[in-house]
Amino acid sequence: MLKAHGYAAKAARSALEPFAFDRRDPGPKDIVISILYSGICHSDIHQARDEWGGAKFPMVPGHEIAGRVVSTGSGVTRFSVGDLAGVGCMVDSCGTCPSCRAGEEQFCESGPVWTYNSIERDGKTLTYGGYSDVIVIREDFALRLPSGLSLPQVAPLLCAGITTFSPLRRFGVREGQEVGVVGLGGLGHMAIKFARAMGARVTVFSTSPSKEEDARRLGAHDFVLTRKEGWEKGMGGRFHLILDAVSANHDLAPYLGSLGLGGSMVLLGVPETPLSFHSFLLISRRRNLTASLIGGLRETQEMLDFCGHHGIASDIELIPIQKVNEAYERTLRGDVRYRFVIDMASLNT
Ligand code: NAP
Ligand code: ZN
Repeated sequence: MLKAHGYAAKAARSALEPFAFDRRDPGPKDIVISILYSGICHSDIHQARDEWGGAKFPMVPGHEIAGRVVSTGSGVTRFSVGDLAGVGCMVDSCGTCPSCRAGEEQFCESGPVWTYNSIERDGKTLTYGGYSDVIVIREDFALRLPSGLSLPQVAPLLCAGITTFSPLRRFGVREGQEVGVVGLGGLGHMAIKFARAMGARVTVFSTSPSKEEDARRLGAHDFVLTRKEGWEKGMGGRFHLILDAVSANHDLAPYLGSLGLGGSMVLLGVPETPLSFHSFLLISRRRNLTASLIGGLRETQEMLDFCGHHGIASDIELIPIQKVNEAYERTLRGDVRYRFVIDMASLNT
C-alpha cells in the first residue's frame, strides 16, 4: 500500500482534520500523481456536511486536482514521470456500457467511481479525494493539463470548468446569443469566461451587489441584482440559455420567465432541498428545463485544450490546508473570489 495523508471529515458537519490513510499499490495501467493543488468545490461542502445523503466517512474531499506524475506502471502509454496531470470528479467506470462507449463516463450505467465518497469497482474500497498529497489513478482517467497557465488556477477547471463548458457546448452557444448565468461563484465565474469566449452576450444574475465590477471584468455585458424587487420585469424573455449555478434553494420562476421561445435553462447547482416551479412557465413559451452533470473525459480534455488556447483559467485565492475549514465557512457566506485552491505543499508545514 502507498501511504498518503491529507485532511478528512470524520462525520457530517465535523471540521476537517489531518488524516493518514493508504492508497492502493499502483498497477501496470496506473499512474501516481503528487498532488500540488486542489480546488474547493461547493459539492465538497454539500458532501462533507452530508446534505445529499449517503455520505461515507472518513471523507477526504477534493475533485479538482492538479499535480505531477511521479511514477508510471509498465503498461502506461500517455504519461511520463514529470508530466503535469489532472484528476476531476471520476476515477473509474465500467468502460463498456453505452454511456462509457459514448465518452460520457459520468453516466456509466454501473455507476462511475467518484474521486471520493464512492466505492471502487472492487466493491469495497472507499475512494479518497484531492485534499491529500498523492493519488493513484488509471491513466485513462487522468487529464493532460495545458502548459502556459498558472497551475493553481488550472485545478478548478477539472470540475467548475467542465461543468459549465459542457452545457454551453451542448446548446451550441455562438456569436450573438444571449446567455444568462445565475450565481457568481466558482461555477458561475467560469461560465462567464466560456460563454464570452464562445461569442455570447452574457448577463449575470447575482444576489451580491459587490460582485458587479468583477462580473464585468470577467466578461459579462450586464449585471442584474436579483435582490431588487421586480428585477425580472426588464428581462423581456430574451435569453437563449440560462445556466443556474446556485448552491441554495431559490425561486426559478423569474429565470424561466426570462427565457425566449424555446429557450433553455440548465440546472447545475444541487441545493439540499427540492426546487419547484409552475408548469405554465415552460408551456407558455415551449421552454426547456434541463440539467447537466460535469462532462465526460473526452470533453474534459477538449475543455482543457480550449483553456490553453484561449488563456482561460480560474480566479482563485490560494490557501494553506490549515485554512480549509475557514474556506468552507467563507464559501457558505458567498465570500469567495472565485475559487479557493489549497496549496498542498502546506500539508508538510
Ligand atoms: P459557490 O462558489 O459557493 O457559488 C454559489 C453561488 O450561488 C454563490 O456565489 C452565490 O452567488 C449564489 N448563492 C448562494 N446562496 C444563494 C442563495 N441563497 N440564493 C441565491 N443565490 C445564492 O458554489 P460552486 O462551487 O460554484 O457550486 C455551485 C453549485 O453547483 C453547488 O450546488 C454545487 O454542488 C453544484 N455543482 C454541480 C455540478 C454538476 O455537475 N452539476 C458540478 C459542480 C458543482 P451570488 O453571490 O452571485 O448570488
Ligand atoms: Zn465540483
